[in-house]
Amino acid sequence: MELDCEGDEASAWRFGAASPVLTAARSQSIRAMVYRVYDCLDRGDARPVAPLGHGDPAAFACFRTAPPATDAVAAAASSGVLNSYAPAAGLAEACSAVAALLSRELPYEVSPRDVVLTAGCNHAVEIMMTVLAAPGANVLLPRPGYPLYASRAALSGLEFRHFDLLPDKEWEVDLAGVAALADDNTVAMVIVSPNNPCGCVYSRHHLAQIAQTARKLGIMVISDEVYDHFAFGSKPFVPMGVFGEIAPVVTLGGISKRWMVPGWRLGWIAATDPNGILRKKKVMDSIIDYRGISVDPVTFVQGALPHIIANTDEAFFANAMDVMREAAEICHEKLQEIECITCPHKPDGSMFVMAKLDLSRLDGIEDDVDFCSKLAKEESVVMCPGSGLGMKNWLRITFAVDPQLLEDGLERTKRFCLRHAWQSQGDELMNTSAS
Ligand SMILES: *Cc1c(COP(=O)(O)O)cnc(C)c1O
Repeated sequence: MELDCEGDEASAWRFGAASPVLTAARSQSIRAMVYRVYDCLDRGDARPVAPLGHGDPAAFACFRTAPPATDAVAAAASSGVLNSYAPAAGLAEACSAVAALLSRELPYEVSPRDVVLTAGCNHAVEIMMTVLAAPGANVLLPRPGYPLYASRAALSGLEFRHFDLLPDKEWEVDLAGVAALADDNTVAMVIVSPNNPCGCVYSRHHLAQIAQTARKLGIMVISDEVYDHFAFGSKPFVPMGVFGEIAPVVTLGGISKRWMVPGWRLGWIAATDPNGILRKKKVMDSIIDYRGISVDPVTFVQGALPHIIANTDEAFFANAMDVMREAAEICHEKLQEIECITCPHKPDGSMFVMAKLDLSRLDGIEDDVDFCSKLAKEESVVMCPGSGLGMKNWLRITFAVDPQLLEDGLERTKRFCLRHAWQSQGDELMNTSAS
């Protein structure tokens, strides 16, 4: 049959852009924020872009994953027996491997039945913010934080409230603030440990205090530990699950950061809850139900997981932390040379640091977004404006970047700040350009 549209008036198309709920959720998206900064880059600038805005070390040769991990995935893909759908909770062997991995550091055994595999830790965030969205319920989120929690909560109609992390107390949780925010409808509080974006590692003592607070309030703790073992300072990483006896803990994790393979999309949700309260309350059932109508992590990556865990030797992690420690060191030192940027706490974990902008020292820079836009345009350096994390006039800087490029990027940032310095610092600028 001939297609003949001529003469027929097209009807008014009835579809349009996305829902207002999506628009609201998107406004919380850090990716969208960082992409807007990328849009400011001057394409004519021949210098390499210094990507200090988002943490993806996989882009750099110095952060290549462990060869046994790649081998395990290749073997799994070519085995021919991992081409099917996996069960809703994930392949049994992979769940067991995660349970064993977590149990190594807990005073009790995590059952494989209490582990659900996800398509990355972001998927774990999505699942938790969906299953907790009972009518009227609210969750407490850290500020600054990881904005996906708020986006996903907004999308599922779950109310969220922000408690503060305290810069003068090494970014510890403002526990009095948590208690003040909570009410009878509060169901959970979220912590990120080691912390993105603050770069801090919480002490055993502070985690115990968090658990006590949650117990008093009758809420669960969701502990985002996608940076587990990303602790390169003096404080060791302690899993929140150690205090699961005090209050039920849902541990979120994955291989994205520790193995530096965010593109492999494998994460997990584990009930680190020796009293079995989450199971009794049917939270685990809801998680598996939602997993069943959501996406699956790739089966052959699930199949590779037990081998990835078993075959990666400690030297890989130790080396990765050496590189990270060096990068954090460079970052902290270079930032100290920049007058208009202060960093309240030297990072000792994750791959980020929060730094405060002193706008009174800058001329013609309106706020953090303006700073990041101009910095991108003039120096090809991308940073994430703190506004995207609820921290106006702060910056989130990642140091999971090739050390040379990191140093270069921060040097360019320093020149940018001198060039835009308020007049009283003009002498310094003259001296710098003369030398
Ligand atoms: C990177 C990150 C995630 C997402 O991890 P994926 O496994 O890549 O989905 C979740 N939470 C925090 C705090 C992160 O920094």
